[in-house]
Amino acid sequence: METEQVIIIGSGPAGYTAAVYAARADMNPLLFEGQRLGGSPGGQLMLTTEVENYPGFPEGLMGPDLMEKFKAQAVRFGTRIVSEDITAVDFGSRPFKVQAGEKEYFAKSVIVCTGAQAMWIGVPGEEQYQGHGLSACATCDGFFFRDKEILVVGGGDSAMEEANFLTKFAKKVTIVHRRDTLRASKIMQERAMKNPKIDFLWNTEVREVLGDGTKLTGVRVFNNQSNEESELATEGLFVAIGHKPNTNIFKGWIDLDEKGYVLTRPGSTVTSVEGVFAGGDVADHRYRQAITAAGTGCMAALDAERWLETQA
Ligand code: NAP
Repeated sequence: METEQVIIIGSGPAGYTAAVYAARADMNPLLFEGQRLGGSPGGQLMLTTEVENYPGFPEGLMGPDLMEKFKAQAVRFGTRIVSEDITAVDFGSRPFKVQAGEKEYFAKSVIVCTGAQAMWIGVPGEEQYQGHGLSACATCDGFFFRDKEILVVGGGDSAMEEANFLTKFAKKVTIVHRRDTLRASKIMQERAMKNPKIDFLWNTEVREVLGDGTKLTGVRVFNNQSNEESELATEGLFVAIGHKPNTNIFKGWIDLDEKGYVLTRPGSTVTSVEGVFAGGDVADHRYRQAITAAGTGCMAALDAERWLETQA
């Protein structure tokens, strides 16, 4: 039985950054790039088009190209990458065990970077137009909707925040909500209601995302009071109905908050299990940026390195 110094689970900005730091610290990391967790290897950035806010790339670059660079940098320093989903872990004793189907791997330390995923409505056309008019991230993609009329789906704080942010660019933002009352906090509701660029469409469910084959052109909606269906033309649709962290396999092993995010000791990446660290969106429901994920991925590798030194 071979025991790794460190196993990194996840291949988004946090996982690859942890790998770069761990490899350069001679920890010979083994990184699992999941095929399902987070949507695809490379994480959520694989679902975006242009990334213009990642420092160091003044011209911007495509999300998948950025992830290719992250990966190349991790590999350059000797990270070994396994293209398998981790299906179970055992953090109950050391060395820690992680399992990919029938295969078992053992490690002295583990860095959890499995990310989070935006929740989608689950209607036809949604997958096809992601990154082509349809987004779940106003901070990432809002800029591309200057002077356009766009829709935001959701009635929580995220939807209000995204809608407000989008009015910096868009001519008009319509919040489409499935009920006639918002779930958002009072202050966020008021801010949205007072914004002259924001309108509301109540009791309305998006039933289909429409497009011309290359980009989104509208949505088919259903009014659940009048039972009528209609089509709305729009160039942009933001789905803001919440995120969920990819932590199913960690339940019962490390402490999670009530939404399922990994709890870390403030100012560090230390989890409730000594030797297990977490970085990126899996432990962050607040900032959720590639740069903050990379930052906490770096912290996780440094925390793991220091902890391993104390175990020698
Ligand atoms: P949330 O509070 O769970 O709200 C999700 C919203 O999406 C709800 O209005 C829900 O409708 C709607 N929704 C869910 N599934 C849907 C579906 N399939 N189709 C259409 N609509 C759907 O999620 P969130 O807004 O992301 O907020 C998550 C947490 O983060 C909250 O605790 C929130 O306070 C916090 N947060 C805070 C801030 C801030 O303070 N600045 C910003 C963002 C988030 P229903 O209302 O009908 O259930």
